[in-house]
Amino acid sequence: AAKARGTGRLEVFDDEASHRSIDRLDLRSDLSEALEHGQLSVVYQPMVELKTNTIRSFEALARWRHPERGNVPPDEFIPLAEETGAIVAIGAWVLDQACRQLATWQREFPEAHLTMSVNISAVQLERGHGDLLDVIRSAGVDPADIWLEVTEHMDTAEDISTQVSALRDAGVHFALDDFGMSYSSLAYLQRFPVEGLKIDRAFVAAMNDDADNGRGIVRAITAVADSLSMKAFAEGIETQAQLDGLLDLGCGYGQGHLLSPPLTVERSTAALRAQRDRG
Ligand code: C2E
Ligand code: MG
Ligand code: MG
Ligand code: MG
Repeated sequence: AAKARGTGRLEVFDDEASHRSIDRLDLRSDLSEALEHGQLSVVYQPMVELKTNTIRSFEALARWRHPERGNVPPDEFIPLAEETGAIVAIGAWVLDQACRQLATWQREFPEAHLTMSVNISAVQLERGHGDLLDVIRSAGVDPADIWLEVTEHMDTAEDISTQVSALRDAGVHFALDDFGMSYSSLAYLQRFPVEGLKIDRAFVAAMNDDADNGRGIVRAITAVADSLSMKAFAEGIETQAQLDGLLDLGCGYGQGHLLSPPLTVERSTAALRAQRDRG
């Protein structure tokens, strides 16, 4: 009887697993057409200078509205796009949108000295996979106003040095996203020097829990950033207590739902207008 039950469970599991893979197959082929069908969009999350509560920058975040499923989160579709290679076209499109939007905002709000951050995948930097610097230049923005956010996955990429040096030479900045979440974060910094560290929101979330070491870790990361002359950016600030703690530790910049969620272009523009009218 035990054996029969075991077999039964196995069949159920197989069934679910095959559903899941059919699901992924469908999503994959839908994703390959998402761009041409106009289902992708970009939202912008303000990056705020914490001391003055001023918007200094925006992070571009991709959105996919699937015709039947509604919004598919980027944590689901970006990995799929990386697997299929669709990320090369999608990523270039996001970068183009973000750069053009920055150019528009810089014209309307010159006093804000805005910059733009864009997440990029390792594949986009590999040799022969499109020229990001071309995209930035054709959008008419100064490459020095662009930050590219990379993750430690970059480590497994092949031959990214050609594009990375061209981008760096042009003045493009690199930041390491989700910093601290891998065992090799510090070793990674040695191999891929960046100008900014984004403190993963898991540490920010743990800042005010006595049981966790969140506050100590955030302090340590800001110290690493300081001693390597990098900027520290905190992700996922959700409470006033977290914000106060970050200000205490001297963390310069942050993002999070407490400050602002990701916004449409229209709402971002409204936030910039409100800031100018206040200032
Ligand atoms: P990320 O780059 O670390 O972006 C931060 C994520 O945290 C975003 O999720 C943002 O909406 C969310 N977030 C911001 N503030 C808060 C907060 O206070 N609390 C919580 N719980 N979450 C907050 P999103 O937009 O779902 O993006 C998820 C990830 O997908 C991004 O993480 C990034 O790795 C990737 N991604 C998004 N757009 C792109 C893209 O255009 N290209 C690439 N390569 N990756 C992208
Ligand atoms: Mg990011
Ligand atoms: Mg992040
Ligand atoms: Mg992330």
